[in-house]
Amino acid sequence: MLLKSQLPTSSLSLSGERNGADQPLLVQSWLEQSTPITITRSVFVSAQFFKDHPGETARTILEGYRWPNGQAKCPLCGGWRLYREKRKGQLGYYRCPASHEADASRPLGGQFVFSVRQGTILENSRLSLSKWLYCLAHIDRSRGSRGTSVKRLASEIGATRKTAARQLELIIMLDDYFWEKNDRYVGKLAVLQPVIDAFYKQPDQNQFLFQYRLDKAKERSLAYRAEREAKEAEKARSKFPLFRC
Ligand SMILES: [Zn+2]
Repeated sequence: MLLKSQLPTSSLSLSGERNGADQPLLVQSWLEQSTPITITRSVFVSAQFFKDHPGETARTILEGYRWPNGQAKCPLCGGWRLYREKRKGQLGYYRCPASHEADASRPLGGQFVFSVRQGTILENSRLSLSKWLYCLAHIDRSRGSRGTSVKRLASEIGATRKTAARQLELIIMLDDYFWEKNDRYVGKLAVLQPVIDAFYKQPDQNQFLFQYRLDKAKERSLAYRAEREAKEAEKARSKFPLFRC
């Protein structure tokens, strides 16, 4: 184990400091260096996750959870006769041509354009869907070293600590509502009050996010159990080599 001061400069960003979008590149350049150094395993996990879940894949997964029958539905009127649209060259927007009533957020009413983020905790976030998916799948609320810290999450998703703190708190709010059945999250400074209020106005719009989180937790626990059983079987085999089959 080397002291932090002995690490090459580029590794500092991997050990928790603010990290840019070039994170996978940094990992690469780190690997090419001959100096033996300890690498945070979780940063490799996140780099691999982003490689496996580019923007379009992340959107397809989230849409699949929100609209399981494969058909997007207008959150205002339930209509499903929609037009696909692009915004800033990005797919994933739907226009409902029905004439919707005016409300506080849409004083003119009329047609409605939405995406999978509509009405959820993702709505006012600038974080990419891939990073959101990572947070939902990997934020671990256990106490101690297993649990996700703000510092670690910031390096995993290549964001500021402020953003990481916000993500952690939003996930806690989600878990509290759907898992702990707490219907009022006590706001921390990391999440703005209007975001909390919007969540409690229509919490069920977020259920699909929690479902994805739950499924990932189950997958992880099964994989962990299988790994442990394989290790135990290997240990038993090495203890009694005569019975090796
Ligand atoms: Zn509609």
